[in-house]
Amino acid sequence: MSDTPTPTHEPLPPGSSPATVAVAAGRPARRQGGPVNPPVVLSSTYVSQGVQGSVHGPGELLYTRMDTETWHPFEEALAALEGATEPGVVFSSGMAAIASVFSFVPHGGTVVIPRHAYQVTLGFADDLAARADVTVRRVDVADTAAVVAAMDGADLCVLESPTNPMLEVADLPALLAAARARGVLTVVDNTFATPLGQQPLGDGADLVVHSVTKYLAGHSDVVLGAVVTDDPELARKVRAYRTLHGSIAGPWEVWLALRGLRTLALRVERSQANAAELARRLAEHPGVAEVRHPSLPEDPGHERATRTMRGYGSVIGLRPRGGVEGADAVVAAVRLWLPATSLGGVESCLERRRRFPTESVTVPEDLLRMSVGVEDVEDLWRDLEQALDARGATEVGR
Ligand SMILES: *Cc1c(COP(=O)(O)O)cnc(C)c1O
Repeated sequence: MSDTPTPTHEPLPPGSSPATVAVAAGRPARRQGGPVNPPVVLSSTYVSQGVQGSVHGPGELLYTRMDTETWHPFEEALAALEGATEPGVVFSSGMAAIASVFSFVPHGGTVVIPRHAYQVTLGFADDLAARADVTVRRVDVADTAAVVAAMDGADLCVLESPTNPMLEVADLPALLAAARARGVLTVVDNTFATPLGQQPLGDGADLVVHSVTKYLAGHSDVVLGAVVTDDPELARKVRAYRTLHGSIAGPWEVWLALRGLRTLALRVERSQANAAELARRLAEHPGVAEVRHPSLPEDPGHERATRTMRGYGSVIGLRPRGGVEGADAVVAAVRLWLPATSLGGVESCLERRRRFPTESVTVPEDLLRMSVGVEDVEDLWRDLEQALDARGATEVGR
């Protein structure tokens, strides 16, 4: 039985840049009259007449929980974007992808994790601590020496950079090299930076995970995840986990994600430029107490992001004046920005993170996480300005 699908799609010209890969990867092989997009195949089962011991041959499909062809173009395109040698492994959600990686932690093992990682990732680690005797070491990813010290004897080092929602920037090349030297398995959640911003496998990460829900799919219309690795044995295990747990993606959602991926470079370029401009203007606004975005020269992550990333990402952390009340008033006053959770879609949205009781207590109560979309930056600014000013007029936050 073959666990790894063999690429069946048109090969890319060597040396293609990531923006080209996003458009061109995973296209059907060229033939006269053939479609330029892969088909969506809706079939739970495949014709198979295997006898005992040879249920199906290499590359043959059997049952959709195990493998199905609509996953392949997306899995190949994502791998090409991350510079991976193995096809990616698509999952039903980012959390399903992350759960598959946590399966590498043995009972009684040790995990290093950022104190400000995505809150459900932290929740997953805490659950392992409670029921599988796993030790969880929470670290500040911006403190390289502390993260390296915490790696001693760890089974898995989870890294996120920039972190959700504090936007701390890790020195990924240094941390990944240190983990490799110590034989610690590493996974980087690359959701915020996208493969256009950084390719952690190239810096020595064992695994990369994505919430495909966010920038990769990009239109807030699907929930999906993925794991990418260069290691055939890890890829085989992650695929086996997916089959065993049944955390599989629907073909239609994966097709939509590939369609969204086509415009990744355009969307990321525009939303990053918008975010940098808005961060700059917000930093000068009298109704603002603090802005976090690595593009700002005064941001603690600026130097690192400049050195290790292409671009600074499209998420801004904003603390308006007036504490929780002031922050909630901004969310209530915006008209174009959507008051909604999630990020990475074409539309701009914002929320106060600590409204979730599960968010880390070290995240400031009044922090708004702003996901900047691809709208006209002047429209986005006008709306933010009126929301900040409407608050000022009622003396909130002055
Ligand atoms: C949203 C998110 C996840 C979880 O992904 P889902 O697709 O919602 O399951 C994981 N990591 C980060 C950084 C995220 O933003």
